[in-house]
Amino acid sequence: MSLLSIQGLEGRHGLLRAFQDITLDIAEGEKIALIGANGAGKTTLLRTLAGVHPVSRGTIRLDGDDITTLPGHRRAALGLALVPEGRRLFATMTVAENLRVAESAGRGGYWNLDTVVQALPQLKPKLAAPAGTLSGGQQQAVAIGRALMTNPRLLLLDEVSLGLSPVAVQGVYESLARLFETQTAIVLVEQDLKRATDVADRIVCMLEGRIVASGRAGEMSRDEILGHYFGHREPAHG
Ligand code: ATP
Repeated sequence: MSLLSIQGLEGRHGLLRAFQDITLDIAEGEKIALIGANGAGKTTLLRTLAGVHPVSRGTIRLDGDDITTLPGHRRAALGLALVPEGRRLFATMTVAENLRVAESAGRGGYWNLDTVVQALPQLKPKLAAPAGTLSGGQQQAVAIGRALMTNPRLLLLDEVSLGLSPVAVQGVYESLARLFETQTAIVLVEQDLKRATDVADRIVCMLEGRIVASGRAGEMSRDEILGHYFGHREPAHG
């Protein structure tokens, strides 16, 4: 059975359909890269899966149980965690406080303050610092650590490299590399196609709110993915 099973899902912003007809099964431990241009509906879809945006049609099942209308905090307790675009930390709270806030929301398990700091060692000297004083890359590490504190079975990562310097992006991906080796399933939204295809098992392409292609990472060429990204199957060469 799939870990998460999404059937005919639709999400709206008022009258606008942000995404529609989304049917997708995510296996335990699977790593999916969700690719698509700005406005394709990726962020709204991740927020909907995390329970912070309402479903307007369709169903979401976790381990076969219908969680379509379950609020976000109950989904977190079942193992769904979102690292949101823009990080959304408590800027005046310390790094340790930001991490501990998530602990009670989750399931309990391997991840706690000690194991998160081991996995994200750049946070160790910063634990007592207000999160708002950290660099962008360090703040992103806090946001990832905060999600890990809930011991997720499925981690939803929304553009973790957005707005970061190349060095910071490298640092964030080095931290994520360990995570990609664990049994945590991951959906990664990433604009950098190479990074996405390097770490994912499966690529799912979205265009104008729909899934237009899906395939094993090694079996889809860059041109094919770019074609779906821009909405034409066979991009011009040269
Ligand atoms: P991006 O990479 O820019 O974040 P995305 O693929 O994540 O894009 P969404 O942010 O989910 O796409 O946007 C999907 C559609 O919903 C777009 O047409 C966008 O303009 C619209 N939209 C997103 N957020 C809102 C909002 N808060 N209110 C109204 N419309 C919104």
